[in-house]
Amino acid sequence: MAKKQRTAIEPTRAENYPEWYQQVIKAADLAENSPVRGCMVIKPWGYGLWENIQKVLDRMFKETGHENAYFPLFIPRSFLQKEAEHVDGFAKECAVVTHSRLEADENGVLQPTGELEEPLIVRPTSETIIGEMYSKWVQSYRDLPILINQWANVVRWEMRTRLFLRTAEFLWQEGHTVHATQEEAVEETLKMLDVYETFARDYLAVPVIKGEKTAAERFPGAVSTYSIEAMMQDRKALQAGTSHFLGQNFAKSSEIKFLSSEGQEEYAWTTSWGVSTRLVGAMIMVHSDDDGLVLPPKLAPRHVVIIPVIPKEEHRDAVTDYCRKLQGELLGCNYGDQPLRVELDERDMRGGEKVWGWVKKGVPVRLEVGPRDVENDAVFLGRRDKAAKDRQTVSRKDLLQSIEGILGDIHEALYQRALKFQKENTKRIETKEEFYSWFANEKESGFVICPWAGSAELEKEISTETKVTIRCIPMDEKKTGTCPFTGTENAPMAVFARSY
Ligand code: AMP
Repeated sequence: MAKKQRTAIEPTRAENYPEWYQQVIKAADLAENSPVRGCMVIKPWGYGLWENIQKVLDRMFKETGHENAYFPLFIPRSFLQKEAEHVDGFAKECAVVTHSRLEADENGVLQPTGELEEPLIVRPTSETIIGEMYSKWVQSYRDLPILINQWANVVRWEMRTRLFLRTAEFLWQEGHTVHATQEEAVEETLKMLDVYETFARDYLAVPVIKGEKTAAERFPGAVSTYSIEAMMQDRKALQAGTSHFLGQNFAKSSEIKFLSSEGQEEYAWTTSWGVSTRLVGAMIMVHSDDDGLVLPPKLAPRHVVIIPVIPKEEHRDAVTDYCRKLQGELLGCNYGDQPLRVELDERDMRGGEKVWGWVKKGVPVRLEVGPRDVENDAVFLGRRDKAAKDRQTVSRKDLLQSIEGILGDIHEALYQRALKFQKENTKRIETKEEFYSWFANEKESGFVICPWAGSAELEKEISTETKVTIRCIPMDEKKTGTCPFTGTENAPMAVFARSY
């Protein structure tokens, strides 16, 4: 039997994907489970990723005309109750505040007292409380559009949680906009879906399929929900972002009305859209390998790490000086519109241990510098998108000239690899037999594109039987076909997959 190659992460992806995911997070020191069930502690390396995601998205939101604001964490019960479908959708996963004080009982145990007149819900999403405010702010067509985003935490009392992908408390942004016409609101919904798609491709290096959700998967209270769907390395789908056209449903329940230019009182049209810390999970699951985290360069907390290798004490000063000077030079370089983020790792540790530490943290470029490199005015360069052993000597001058290009190449290599994987694991199917036999293989099934004209009941039946759901009706798919489940001709294509 061939000797199993040692990997920095055990188990490997092939051996046990869910456990591999947990171990990658642990080895990179991204986050930990907290004492509160389903809630995570995001550690600096993981939070640094989220901050970079925030920075880029925030800029993209502002470039598309939005401003940030902040609304309360608590929602009065009566507000949530206003939109019937919305309540139904969220009631089962709400944290509810019922008391305002604590008092020690006879055993010294703190007990809640001071019952509130009206319970408060910890926001699972903010349509209702924001809608209440908008109803006050909107009087005339001149007050429209309102284009506001909020960066916040929300709570959904999820039963089965997994770090980043699904937690009870998560960080996100939620955009909430109000428009005078249906056309404008639909345009906004699709514009923000495009922003998410662009962000996924150009920053996360994750290819996504953009499409509309079926009624079964629609946001509670929305007229239509659109999503971007990504394929993880176990071939499951992950909904990476959503944009909702809310029609006049929330405007009616929150009384968001305005006087049109013709002097008519009309209900407004609203949208909402969001992405969450789940994006960090997507990034991990799409790019990382059996040696740990692999970061897309544009979002990496550090682009480059310099690792001095000091075999003997007598080399220390020369190597350290060279590394410090190199760090200074690299800090003067740019990657796109960002200054380069460069760490010099001067910790008192064995070089090999440091190198593996940075491999596991996913830093795009590692520069090892030993006495011979100093002599040759060079560095020993390793790229995280390549095997850890695959390193080469580069002169310092060439490095400074090419570092921006190298980071760009890494981004492109990660994106192309993920795209190839998605394409190789997407299959077109036109018969029921093929559909069921394909999804009988739980491990390797991937995405299936198949014509669909079924009802919500039929969709539910299929998903109960196979654990496969319709991820979306892809927007970039122009073809139609005969739905194998209903026989309907000219049915649009749907993407089916198992999902997170
Ligand atoms: P929604 O408001 O349901 O459309 O969700 C907005 C975004 O938050 C989507 O991108 C979801 O993928 C993400 N999301 C929903 N629930 C969770 C959760 N429990 N943990 C992390 N992200 C979530």
